[in-house]
Amino acid sequence: MGLGADKLEIRHNWQFDEVKALFDQPFSDLIFQAQCVHRQHFDPNTVQVSTLLSIKTGSCPEDCKYCPQSNRYDTGLEKEALLEIETVLEEAKAAKASGATRFCMGAAWRSPKQKDMHHVLQMVRGVKELGMESCMTLGMLSVDQAEELAGAGLDYYNHNLDTSPEYYCDIISTRSYQDRLDTLANVRAAGLKVCCGGIVGMGEQPDDRVGLLLQLANMEEHPESVPINRLVRVEGTPLEVGDDLDPFDFIRTIAVARILMPISHVRLSAGREEMNEQMQALAFLAGANSIFYGEKLLTTPNPAANKDKQLFQRLGINSEKYESQRCPQGDELALLDKLEKAHNDAFFYDATASK
Ligand code: SF4
Repeated sequence: MGLGADKLEIRHNWQFDEVKALFDQPFSDLIFQAQCVHRQHFDPNTVQVSTLLSIKTGSCPEDCKYCPQSNRYDTGLEKEALLEIETVLEEAKAAKASGATRFCMGAAWRSPKQKDMHHVLQMVRGVKELGMESCMTLGMLSVDQAEELAGAGLDYYNHNLDTSPEYYCDIISTRSYQDRLDTLANVRAAGLKVCCGGIVGMGEQPDDRVGLLLQLANMEEHPESVPINRLVRVEGTPLEVGDDLDPFDFIRTIAVARILMPISHVRLSAGREEMNEQMQALAFLAGANSIFYGEKLLTTPNPAANKDKQLFQRLGINSEKYESQRCPQGDELALLDKLEKAHNDAFFYDATASK
């Protein structure tokens, strides 16, 4: 392949055939190339850790076929109204104690209602006061709502493209691809950092994975965080049954994302519970450098933090620290041990499989 690490540049003008060629090269060549790119911009042994809490669960009017939170599917999901601010901040404190540097809050809404904005703005302010980075995923945002969130100190807004423009209508009918791009534009215009990725393994063709990454990589500014979710099949959703994605195709997607968006954090996101340790290690080798920590990703299982801690130890991986909350000795694992109880009591969710 013609793209040597020494010729690396950050591009926003990728062509479909170029991205496809990256995917199609021999696996070892692709991983080597991704690792070279990764090492140019990141410490290869450091992974950023986030925690996500569902602040409002279920009853979503949208029809995303993978999502147990849609009110169109009977998944047995326990619904929950918007959480109290104090409850959210207690969870944020526990997440911080468990080593998370970023606290993400997700609500199953088409878009936030104005009456809820005051509430979520207070959550953002509270998380910032704890010295953590904050991220929210609340559905579609208007210009004004994005500005309000930015004004409250929100760092990141998560809104995924999910898949390629071509496959999108097979997955969601209640909001368009353009709606998503508009929200992302509003978020950028407000000065927020963008967390945007997609889901693979939803029955898409290989070209759709090319198409998804092409959309992300050709944005005027690459998303700072790129979650790559592997579909978690949830009983009761339309995607409950189907052929699973070849694990090597998942790793290829991570590697190509790393090459196309060299300075973005590529996040190993939903679906990690179903990956064995070897596969997770391969994902880190391919350039993933962010994970969600905790017992659940929104409403789908996520490996317990203790298992993550052990895997990090075995692989010699450190958690990335957020400036304002560095541990005095930098010994996060010792801190985790001391706070095991606090962690076990915490009930984490993650919402990124979706928005
Ligand atoms: S993915 Fe988000 S928008 Fe879609 S149904 Fe689930 S909660 Fe609603």
